[in-house]
Amino acid sequence: MRHRIAVVGAGLGGLTLARVLHRHGHPVTVLERDTAPDARPPGGTLDLHENLGQTAIAQAGLTTEFERLARPEGQAMRILGTDGTVLRDWRPRPGERANPEIDRGQLRDLLRGPLDVQWGTNVTEVAPGAPGGVLVRSADGSAHTYDLVVGADGAWSRVRGALSPATPRYTGVTLLETSLDDVDTAHPDLARLIGDGALAVYGVNRAVVAQRNSGGHVKVYAQFRAPLDWHTDPARHLGLTRQPALDPTDPDAVRPLLEALFDGWAAPVLDLLRRGTTFAHRPMHVLPVGHTWDHVPGVTLLGDAAHLMPPLGVGANLAMIEGAELAQALTEVLTEARDAEVDAEVDAAVRAFEERMQARAATFAEMTAAGLDRLVGPDPATAIALFDDLQPA
Ligand SMILES: Cc1cc2nc3c(=O)[nH]c(=O)nc-3n(C[C@H](O)[C@H](O)[C@H](O)COP(=O)(O)OP(=O)(O)OC[C@H]3O[C@@H](n4cnc5c(N)ncnc54)[C@H](O)[C@@H]3O)c2cc1C
Repeated sequence: MRHRIAVVGAGLGGLTLARVLHRHGHPVTVLERDTAPDARPPGGTLDLHENLGQTAIAQAGLTTEFERLARPEGQAMRILGTDGTVLRDWRPRPGERANPEIDRGQLRDLLRGPLDVQWGTNVTEVAPGAPGGVLVRSADGSAHTYDLVVGADGAWSRVRGALSPATPRYTGVTLLETSLDDVDTAHPDLARLIGDGALAVYGVNRAVVAQRNSGGHVKVYAQFRAPLDWHTDPARHLGLTRQPALDPTDPDAVRPLLEALFDGWAAPVLDLLRRGTTFAHRPMHVLPVGHTWDHVPGVTLLGDAAHLMPPLGVGANLAMIEGAELAQALTEVLTEARDAEVDAEVDAAVRAFEERMQARAATFAEMTAAGLDRLVGPDPATAIALFDDLQPA
């Protein structure tokens, strides 16, 4: 039985959906804007929760491979005061596997496996109700129709426009991301400071977070509250003296800015920022909490495209569990429904999927919005209290 399914986006959500369908023998077309799997840096480390990302991995039949790559020791978390005092130093118990870490690039490769992704396909428009199905146009001029199009195309989704007028809004918090390579040999002092997992330092309306990835790679995030265009006039927007307009990816301009922004913080914490060689500018955007849309037959969304929220450890997990759940629901219909009933049954399955996804995502969107206010807010004590609330005793 054939039902033409296209997934737009070979991120974690789209690949999970495609991989679970593939596992059950259902063909699916994966359209991805990146020209190749390694066209961009893959990003940092992700913790996969037992009841979300790890469940999705199990549904894709990839638990053994995941366990070979995962880093349970990466669950360790240390919190310092801005003066460098250790305030919390949590380490996982032996066998603790609630939220092991894995590099995003490794996870993406694992999910991609045998899938035939159409790299370099930049989808520009999705039009439901076209003759022959849902029309998908791409920047190269090609146009194809499908019975179901799933927008797994992330924060700035092009598919979303077919369902909803919502667009991401800026949260007021920006990340400047840098990284350190070969930290155990090149920066042993910082390797000891960070430990096996993550290190966080919370100040007033700003924070520094460092996370160990595999192979001695560390990602460091400077987080601060500022208007979106802060870099056009940092002196005014960040309350600093003598800071000219700057390119927020220019290391020679960003390093002195960060020194001024985190002035007075302990030297080793500043070293995490000073020793970075490249910087990425990541203003945090979100979709409205509880984003929903009127169901449109033939098109749906999952992951960030449906519910972009602050990056506090759930976005990838949700994208993956949604991909797995939608694939399971479609598999049941495609395996069991009679030909004449397939369209209606797929539509009912997608509608039920959307209701479940939207309700669950709304809860997490509310939690992460409140979490961001506490982690990058006026009272650092509330950030530490959040950690105490969430961490297993
Ligand atoms: C700094 C940071 C740290 C994070 N840490 C965590 C964490 O620890 N745990 C966690 O669960 N989440 C984390 N997140 C959130 C997580 O990264 C996202 O929620 C997750 O990647 C969403 O997956 P997705 O598949 O919906 O979208 P994405 O991973 O963004 O994938 C979307 C894909 O669609 C492609 N695409 C986009 N537009 C088009 C188009 N027009 N045509 C074709 N393809 C297109 C993109 O190239 C991309 O490959 C973090 C986010 C950030 C920014």
